[in-house]
Amino acid sequence: MPSRHLNRSLAAAVFAAALAAGLPGTPAAAAEDPVLNLYSARHYQTDEALYANFTKATGIRINRIEAGDEQLLDRLKSEAAQSPADVVLIVDASRLWSAQQQGLFQPVKSAVLDQRIPASLRDPDGNWFGFSSRARVLVYNKAALKAADIPTYESLADPGLKGQVCVRSGSHPYNLSLVAAMIEHLGEARAETWARGVVANFARGPRGGDTDQIKAVAAGECGVAIANTYYYARLMRSSKPDEREIVARTAVVWPNQATFGTHLNISGAGVAKHSPHPQNALRFLEYLASDEAQSYFADGNNEWPVVRSVVVKNPALDALGPFKADTLSIAAIAKATPAAQKLLDRAGWK
Ligand code: FE
Repeated sequence: MPSRHLNRSLAAAVFAAALAAGLPGTPAAAAEDPVLNLYSARHYQTDEALYANFTKATGIRINRIEAGDEQLLDRLKSEAAQSPADVVLIVDASRLWSAQQQGLFQPVKSAVLDQRIPASLRDPDGNWFGFSSRARVLVYNKAALKAADIPTYESLADPGLKGQVCVRSGSHPYNLSLVAAMIEHLGEARAETWARGVVANFARGPRGGDTDQIKAVAAGECGVAIANTYYYARLMRSSKPDEREIVARTAVVWPNQATFGTHLNISGAGVAKHSPHPQNALRFLEYLASDEAQSYFADGNNEWPVVRSVVVKNPALDALGPFKADTLSIAAIAKATPAAQKLLDRAGWK
């Protein structure tokens, strides 16, 4: 009997608490369940250690949904207000911008994030934050070209490079962001003339990913390709003989060192619009900006940390040497991506 009484009063207390939680004006500080639902487009083994450390430090368990960037955004859209997503982790300025435009993030304010992450690598309104950076470089065949032939992105449009340029689809976010940066630097008219010149130099119609372009360069199908640094670094760290051979036949140019610097992009995250655990979400983002998480997060994909004081010892990236990075803000690049898509369509960069 006493136990039934106890149960009944417990049930009443729980009911009262539930009612109170539902009342308008209840402080948002009410404790959240120690759970975080993470929608992630990343799939690297080193991320496992990262998530385990977060759980150890905070007691917050992470449920992960991993899928491609597009699928994650489609899923968020169709789940709408019912979405369990707390944090959305995707890649590239143009995708972060499209998620922001579709209202999939909720802006957050954090002194920690503002202080740790450079202003150029996050949304000024707090919709998303960059947590690692990658550069878009030129990879050339050493038997076909010299570094001096291709010092800049602009040089890819030189008539002398006819039939030499390999690059993936123009509608891929990596190229959209690069072309958006070119619009910001050159103005739209000059950027379009440049894009037409690059298309005129194509060795073949765009197909495959960045690694396929690098392979085509090594095979002599093209003289130069545009690729993200981590794809090349991955090959540099490979022990497979065929991949060692690709690296032996090619080299990397940091474009535009004498002008605006090499195009940088980010992998970034934001708090989901309908996050059921927004406090946990913010805590996770702040954790990603910690020294420990920054090295794991960036190095897992051969990228660079965004927090300047964090130095990663990555033999492949170190071997590529220091470079001057473009300081254009990712937000400015993001905003110019719709114009970049139209420009690429006009230029016939399929
Ligand atoms: Fe990629």
